[in-house]
Amino acid sequence: MRFLLMIPLLWCSSALAQVQPLDFHNHKFWDKRNIAIHSANFAMQTADAFTTRHVLDRHNGIERNPWARQFVTRGWGGQAAYSWGLSVGGSVLTSYLMHRTGHHKLERILPMIEVGYTAGTVFGMNLRHRDTPQLP
Ligand SMILES: [Zn+2]
Repeated sequence: MRFLLMIPLLWCSSALAQVQPLDFHNHKFWDKRNIAIHSANFAMQTADAFTTRHVLDRHNGIERNPWARQFVTRGWGGQAAYSWGLSVGGSVLTSYLMHRTGHHKLERILPMIEVGYTAGTVFGMNLRHRDTPQLP
């Protein structure tokens, strides 16, 4: 009896699989969209790195992100490791893993969330640093 109940379910699942367009799952990872998304992330992380260094080195600022703080308090080396190693490289790696496991929407959405979050940090906090006194 259970087997008879499962037949329509199996039938439906195979029918749903046929509805999706073929090219949705058959794209190269470095297609135009991913190149644009990850280039935007690289540009935004670079802007974040330079504005963060400016606030920390010239305006006696503090890093409010506790995860980033352990890196950026070590100067440009830690800043580079955080901004380009973890934030750019980690984003590309996560996106690639989503692509390889068939999560093609997540592969684009996750780095776009990172771009938005970093843009908020750059324009909302780093470039509004006049409230802290500038070091001589
Ligand atoms: Zn993909």
